[in-house]
Amino acid sequence: MSYLVLARKWRPQIFADVVGQEAVVRTLQNALRRGRVAHAMIFSGVRGVGKTTLARIMAKALNCLNESDDKPCNVCEACREITAGSSVDLQEIDGASNRGIQEIRELKENIRFFPTKCRYKVIIIDEVHMLTTEAFNALLKTLEEPPEHVYFMFATTELHKVPITILSRCQRYELKRVSFPALVDFFAKIAAEEHVEISRRAIEMIAREADGSIRDGLSLLDQIFSFGGEQVTDEDVAQVLGLVDQRIFSNFAEALLSGDLSRSFELLEKAYTAGIDLKRFAIDLLAYLRALLVCRTSHQPETLLDVSDQELAELRELSVNYSAETLSMLFQLLFKGMSEMQYSAHPRLVLEMAFIRAAQVGKVVPASELLSRLDEMIKSGKAPVEQLVSPAESPKQSTVIVTARPQVVPAEDKQPIRGGDAPQEAEPELNGKMKRLEALVEKIADPQARSKKDVKVAEQTHAKDVRKNWDSFIGYVKERKPWMAQVLKLCENPREENGELVIRFDNPSDCTLLQKAENVKDLSVYTLDFFQKDLCIKISSRGSGGEGQGDAILDGPKEERRALANDPLVQMTIEIFGGQIGAIRTGPRFR
Ligand SMILES: [Zn+2]
Repeated sequence: MSYLVLARKWRPQIFADVVGQEAVVRTLQNALRRGRVAHAMIFSGVRGVGKTTLARIMAKALNCLNESDDKPCNVCEACREITAGSSVDLQEIDGASNRGIQEIRELKENIRFFPTKCRYKVIIIDEVHMLTTEAFNALLKTLEEPPEHVYFMFATTELHKVPITILSRCQRYELKRVSFPALVDFFAKIAAEEHVEISRRAIEMIAREADGSIRDGLSLLDQIFSFGGEQVTDEDVAQVLGLVDQRIFSNFAEALLSGDLSRSFELLEKAYTAGIDLKRFAIDLLAYLRALLVCRTSHQPETLLDVSDQELAELRELSVNYSAETLSMLFQLLFKGMSEMQYSAHPRLVLEMAFIRAAQVGKVVPASELLSRLDEMIKSGKAPVEQLVSPAESPKQSTVIVTARPQVVPAEDKQPIRGGDAPQEAEPELNGKMKRLEALVEKIADPQARSKKDVKVAEQTHAKDVRKNWDSFIGYVKERKPWMAQVLKLCENPREENGELVIRFDNPSDCTLLQKAENVKDLSVYTLDFFQKDLCIKISSRGSGGEGQGDAILDGPKEERRALANDPLVQMTIEIFGGQIGAIRTGPRFR
């Protein structure tokens, strides 16, 4: 006896056998019971989900001679003939190879005659979207007033390519991808019926590969059953599918997340020696990282992932140890690597490069969390106080993600962290700065609280006069930027005017460097820090005839991001945690 492929052997012959299309099946059965079946219907959905199968069952149900409600009976003559494919009244047309107007004319000629044996003629056109425009037009008239004895059933994987004029004359049935659990159950059932021993894990690999398509899954099962015989091992399945065991991906993710580069190289070597396709491997690894990210961020990851309960538990266990930011960063880096691989002659090198970048990510800590930790440290007197003053305006609605490696300092760490040269003896000044810093941290954490009023109050408490303290200010700047102090010495008559620090130079060339935006910014930081005043810097020179470029107005998003990156608070955070800036996002969504 010739071998019948599983997809044909297990093709559903009655509604109850259809897998994973409960809603459509119920609608069809109700239409049959109420006698409200449309004369033209269209089944759409991805390949292998049962479009033509449902059309055939429907053809049987319409012609079934059994009087019961449960049609098709599959035993009466009409049912048996259709099942055997010998009924002359069921015509199946492949739209891809019979797409012209001539075929449609013949069809129209044919349906003028009454059915030979059955009650109705049923015309099934598969891949109907392949018909030419002329063919569709020729069909239109028939669909508008179909003969009572004819039913049209169309199937398509590309509903959007079917003209709207056709669609509007059809009853539409949209078939879903078959869910992962439904596929697993179905394939397990087939394995049992075929007396093949296969693990649940292997079945899951097949179901995942089938990607919602029963027919694809069944062809894979066919291959695997003939490869492995009556006892199929997980390795057999992995080999046939060209898959790497899922466990390798969790090992990989763990290695990368813990920054263990050598382990990830070892794993890659192992996979490479085993003969895996690197591009495929990268895609699967990326899918695994996506699963981790989904697990970390979604309340119902099971609805978004094709994984078993056990795998879901494993994913959960791994993902809880990392922030969504960390996982997302890793995902992005590997995604970039994968995209680069597509065009590279050396995919392995590209992949390794991506691993190196990914292993350096470490734990990404959201800025909000850093700020709150910083706040705690400030309150307990652990934070360095140098450079801790904000420029004129700090970011209002923004997130700076600082990536830290080595990992962030635990909050309970009793070692005080100090900026190298915090003056120990200047206790009163230190306290004042500490208070300002606390206020600053609070304001950044809560933008609503950042009002000018607060700043003014703070200024009045600790403010210093510009003229009187100019020389000490130069000394203060000298410790931070010696050249700037030299330049400042050259200026004439520095003074405070209407909230501005006015600095004039005799010679324009003296202040060229100082006028650069980043230096103006530094100067405004020093000014704010030293004079405890929120002053706008005005630099002018006799030759220039006008105002300098004192106002560091940040209008573009690029400038804004640059300013954020240079924000002293961010810089200090980087210093404390030994991190680097990973991403800066601005705008209301990231608050
Ligand atoms: Zn029947």
